[in-house]
Amino acid sequence: MKIIHFDVDSEIKKYLSGKLFSFSLTLDNLEKVVKKENIEIITFKSQSVINEKILSEFPKLKLIITRTVGVDHVDLTACEKRKIIVKNIPNYGASNIAEHALALLMAGARNIVQANKEVHQGKFFYEFFLGTSFKDKVLGIIGTGKIGLELIKLVSGFGLKVIGYDIVKNEKAAKELNFSYVSLENLLRNSDLISIHVPFFKSTFHLIGEKEIDLIKKGAILVNTSRGEIIDTKALIKQVKKFKAVCLDVVEGEKSFSKKHILLKHKNIIITPHIGFYTDDSVQTIAKITEKYIKDYLF
Ligand code: NAD
Repeated sequence: MKIIHFDVDSEIKKYLSGKLFSFSLTLDNLEKVVKKENIEIITFKSQSVINEKILSEFPKLKLIITRTVGVDHVDLTACEKRKIIVKNIPNYGASNIAEHALALLMAGARNIVQANKEVHQGKFFYEFFLGTSFKDKVLGIIGTGKIGLELIKLVSGFGLKVIGYDIVKNEKAAKELNFSYVSLENLLRNSDLISIHVPFFKSTFHLIGEKEIDLIKKGAILVNTSRGEIIDTKALIKQVKKFKAVCLDVVEGEKSFSKKHILLKHKNIIITPHIGFYTDDSVQTIAKITEKYIKDYLF
């Protein structure tokens, strides 16, 4: 067999062929994989990091498929040097992630997580859970690509004013979806709700740092479903009290996450474990596209 799938969970396993060659492990557990020397194709997710050292373990590697939108965990230069084809899955349904961003936004606005926790402790009181209504508030979208635009479509019935920031302005979409482009500074100063949808590049590392957090309104809700590295965690913690809620599907240091993570000390931080992508629908689409890439290569 020429193919190995890494980072395989029980759901995607149902839809990927070559089940005997799928591992729940990440690529850094390679010592457990036998016969690496004949492998031509590997597939994996963002938990696995591709670098020169990993590539050197697979002398016959021709195709790598990251079953993700982002490719920030793949050393593209190293792959190019070895003439290895790199495929990602740029669109398996932006609505899946946008829906999760909306769920986080609403959970933060209406105190869902903390209220549920207290009810489960037998406390049925409303007075600590004053919600933030959406009508007439300002929603700022950082990154108006596929997911950002999908979120703007989803919230069209809420009566929000939407503003966007992107290095590439999509004026056609802005007109159709009734939002306007502003500078990052303007967005941060004026938004009551902020949702981040930019990819992780060198240029977006800590895009939201101390200076940017300073600009954000007191009582704002900040959502990040893009990559943890976009927000400077230490700077966020310093000013965490200014937020009504910080709702994150991605965090810096996901791989080494533990009970001791500094984000866990604050009641107004909601964290989900990078599940924005993970729905009944998207899992099947991801598997289907992965299989197609493999077939296109093999035949
Ligand atoms: P996309 O490429 O369609 O859109 C990204 C947008 O960001 C583009 O419009 C681009 O111009 C803009 N951008 C790039 N650099 C910028 C900068 N410095 N400042 C402002 N804007 C900038 O991507 P997408 O499909 O919308 O996905 C966005 C990100 O979401 C992905 O890169 C990935 O990291 C993340 N993601 C997360 C999950 C999850 O499960 N939580 C799932 C899929 C994708």
